[in-house]
Amino acid sequence: TEGTVILDGAGVKRALTRIAHEILEKNKGVGGLVLVGIRTGGVHLAHELADRLAEIEGEKVPVGAVDITLYRDDIKGHAEHLPVGKTEIPFTLEGRIVVLVDDVLYTGRTIRAAMDALMDHGRPTSIQLAVLVDRGHRELPIRADFVGRNVPTSRTENIQVMFDAINKPTDVVLQK
Ligand code: 5GP
Ligand code: MG
Repeated sequence: TEGTVILDGAGVKRALTRIAHEILEKNKGVGGLVLVGIRTGGVHLAHELADRLAEIEGEKVPVGAVDITLYRDDIKGHAEHLPVGKTEIPFTLEGRIVVLVDDVLYTGRTIRAAMDALMDHGRPTSIQLAVLVDRGHRELPIRADFVGRNVPTSRTENIQVMFDAINKPTDVVLQK
């Protein structure tokens, strides 16, 4: 289908490299840092960010994953009966700086739910948010600390974040 390419693979890579530098600047290095991606796009991007951080700092930061399907407060009715998504945070969050990573930030409800899920795994020192695309339309007082690209959208538009067979980000396309 038709669409406008907002970022190509190289553009995504440059944005993630810039975000990696911003994360390091804000937190003065990778000490105590962990990345938690939101399934599924956010997890792929979290691994990419971890690679960029490792290239810059020579140290690998832990990467976890949360699935917030169950927690969304706007799923009407029987949310508690939905299948439990796979959350994998095989390390402590106690005293850690958590950078949540997602592909697209929209109403903010997913992030609110992800923060709830994180709190079940301990008490981080702080939670920060990195997103590849902020498409606006927030319904909660949530903002990203690190943004790849701000893309004003209408509610009917959709941002397609594409990944190749080995989960490397390729094009980001705005679809009318
Ligand atoms: P929110 O909870 O902020 O309304 O929506 C964010 C979540 O829904 C993210 O996990 C994101 O993957 C997905 N999402 C919302 N809008 C879009 C979009 O336009 N494109 C894509 N790829 N995902 C979206
Ligand atoms: Mg998602």
